[in-house]
Amino acid sequence: MVLEDYEIQQNMVDVEFSYLPFDLSVDSPPVVMMNDRQVKNFVAYWRMKNNIWLCVTFKATVNDRSNIDLNKKPNDSSEGGVDDLLCEKLPKFVSKAKPNDSNFITSKDAEVGARSMMVDSMVKKGQYFKSKEALQASLEIFAMKYNFDYRVTKSGTRFGCIRCIDDVCKWRIRAECFEWSTCWKINKYVGSHTCAPSRKTKFGRTPSARTIGNLIKHNYEGVKEGPKPNDIINIMRTENGCELTYSQAWESREYAVNEVRGIPEKSFAKIPNYLHMLKEANPGTHTNYDIDCDGRFKYLFISFGQSIRGFYKKIRKVIVVDGTFLKNKYKGVLLVATAVDGNSNLYPIAFGIADSENDASWKWFLMQLRVVIADDKDLAFVSDRHISIGKMIEKIYPLAKHGICIHHLIGNVKLAIISPAIGGYLHEADVKKWARCHFPGYRYDINTNNPAESINSALRSPREYPIIPLLDSIREMLTRWFYERRALSEQQNDPLTIEVEQKISRRIEKGKKFKAYPTSQFILQIKV
Ligand SMILES: [Zn+2]
Repeated sequence: MVLEDYEIQQNMVDVEFSYLPFDLSVDSPPVVMMNDRQVKNFVAYWRMKNNIWLCVTFKATVNDRSNIDLNKKPNDSSEGGVDDLLCEKLPKFVSKAKPNDSNFITSKDAEVGARSMMVDSMVKKGQYFKSKEALQASLEIFAMKYNFDYRVTKSGTRFGCIRCIDDVCKWRIRAECFEWSTCWKINKYVGSHTCAPSRKTKFGRTPSARTIGNLIKHNYEGVKEGPKPNDIINIMRTENGCELTYSQAWESREYAVNEVRGIPEKSFAKIPNYLHMLKEANPGTHTNYDIDCDGRFKYLFISFGQSIRGFYKKIRKVIVVDGTFLKNKYKGVLLVATAVDGNSNLYPIAFGIADSENDASWKWFLMQLRVVIADDKDLAFVSDRHISIGKMIEKIYPLAKHGICIHHLIGNVKLAIISPAIGGYLHEADVKKWARCHFPGYRYDINTNNPAESINSALRSPREYPIIPLLDSIREMLTRWFYERRALSEQQNDPLTIEVEQKISRRIEKGKKFKAYPTSQFILQIKV
């Protein structure tokens, strides 16, 4: 339509639409409309404001032709649609070339600039910044370089003012955010300091952990470890003359490592779809997925319908819960809830992925587990003594019993054996939780959380995979196990499970030479 109005042949040019509100000066960068959504935004904005510049830029598609900028009113158009509305109400059309991207300072520029110490050319009147973060990073590095500190005198979502920390000093900056974008611009800059260097109490401003993290993150790319906090203190002192405390260096390192190793959000975007398909293909499956307020992956839960149905039908009500580290880029933990079937095979019930083992993650996992496995006084949990597990089981499964894994207990006791506190430890561990005879529920012979640990070893290499391949190998593993077990149990005609029948057979062999003296109806004294 526009091409028609301007009498231009379509195959000759690329058309670009951009807009600019009237209240901004014409040297501000216009917002370029790249897709339908941005056109809708523009129309909504225009309805609200009614005073806006619409910029139409034609660029020749033929390489050797220079850009054609047209700056004339369109012919009347009788056709309806968005463009007509615009033509009717918009008083003026201007042409405006898209500003060169190099006019904007991004966080990346700030960080590269800081490394090469070119930041002084970035802080000046009229300079654009792609985001508030980019502006902040540039200012922090600028202050660090020029040995002064500043304080924020005004701060809002749309504008901010800072001035030199020294009250008598005239140095100040005012920056504004464009109403329709995330771009910031320095619109006032008094650049010379009137404060006396002799009055300074420290060398300069210490940039935030994020800014330092961005500054040093290249040190973590493609290496196993990267600089430790003390190395960062040295780097910042020798390269930037900036003194950091250990905790500042530690936080900066965390930030840098996360930036480099953290999985970008888009890799997680497929997870909800994957979970949906999983539920479609496996009736009765319960999954859940949680993200934090920044839209980043937080928790995931998956429990297959088949596992749950089988658990209620034939499995002893003892659930072993444990967590293990994932070795993938995301560095989270895999949380596992598993039972043991009649053949002493692992019988996985649920898997979870979380950022780490703590109260919040165990709480979330157990809340999800409770959706599929109801609280019951006949239900028992066995775990290592991770404090969060016990605490959360008591909260979320108040009826169920909770025991501690014997191996972990013994391991911890061995470590504590030189200490007179051992008695205290066992007491503190709560005798009911580790002594089978004192355990208030049924835990059968499931005393250790070896089952969960065997799952961890079964998934040794998948634990290095990204999340979806990891989930998929869990699914494959369970399919294989359940298939094999079904095939095996179909051949079984004895009343007990294969393993228990074999165990009885072994015991008969062992016990047939024993002599037994009954001491009561159920107790026999055995003489070898
Ligand atoms: Zn000053």
